[in-house]
Amino acid sequence: MNIHVLGYWGAYPEAGEATTGLLVQTDTANVLVDCGSGVLSQLFKVCQFRDLTAVIITHHHHDHAADLGVLSYTALIHRQMGTRKEKLPVYMPSGSPVEQALEREPLIQLQRITDTSRIDIGGIDITFARTQHPVYCLAVRMTYKGRTFVFSADSSLCPNLTQIARDADLFLCEANMYDGQEDTAKHAGHLTAGQAGALAREAGVKKLALTHYPHHGNLDDLIRQASAAFHGPVERVHTLKILQV
Ligand SMILES: [Zn+2]
Ligand SMILES: [Zn+2]
Repeated sequence: MNIHVLGYWGAYPEAGEATTGLLVQTDTANVLVDCGSGVLSQLFKVCQFRDLTAVIITHHHHDHAADLGVLSYTALIHRQMGTRKEKLPVYMPSGSPVEQALEREPLIQLQRITDTSRIDIGGIDITFARTQHPVYCLAVRMTYKGRTFVFSADSSLCPNLTQIARDADLFLCEANMYDGQEDTAKHAGHLTAGQAGALAREAGVKKLALTHYPHHGNLDDLIRQASAAFHGPVERVHTLKILQV
C-alpha cells in the first residue's frame, strides 16, 4: 500500500494545504480516507474522480469532512458529463450535516459504518475501533497482502486505539498537542506527541508517523517528543508525501 498524505493540519488548512485526508493506494484500489478542507484539490493531483474506488470518513468534524458536500457536487458534474458511471461507495458513521445531499446524489452510495463493521475494498480488509473523542469517531485498520496500516483518526488515550494499532507495519497517529499539554489533550479528545509515541510502543507498531498538526510551536518538537517515547522510526508528514506500507 502507498499512503499519499493529502492533508495533515488540525482544525484548518495553512495556505495551499489541507486538513486531514489520505489516499490509500494499492495496485487495484484508490481509497480516500477522510475528506477535510482542501483535500479534494490535493487528491486530484494524484487520483482523478473516475479512478476513486471508495471513501471512508472517520468522523464528522469539519477538519475531516468539510469537502464532503463538494464531493457530492463532483459526483453530480461527472455524472452529467458522463465521465463516471459506477457508483462511489462512501462509508461513514451516521450524523453527517451533508447526509441528505450525499443521499440525493445517484452516483454516491452511502454506507453507514460503526466500530463493529468489517468491509472489503478491492481486497483490503478493513476494521474499525471507536476512539475517545467528543463525537463518534472511528480509527481504521487496513490490511492488504499481509501488510497493515492503521490510522488513529482523532482520539485521546484509550485502550481501543492501542488494540487496533497492535503490530501495525505503519501507524499514522494524530499528535495535535505538545508534551506538557496532557490535560488539554484529554479534554479535547486529542493526543500529545509523547502519548502518541508511548501508545505506538505499547502497541508494538513497527513504524510511526505523526499527523493532525497544531498551528503553533515547533513541529519538529512533535517528532522529538514522540521519538523519546517510541524508540523506533517516527516520520513527519508533508503534503503529497508517500508513506509505503
Ligand atoms: Zn481533527
Ligand atoms: Zn475531530
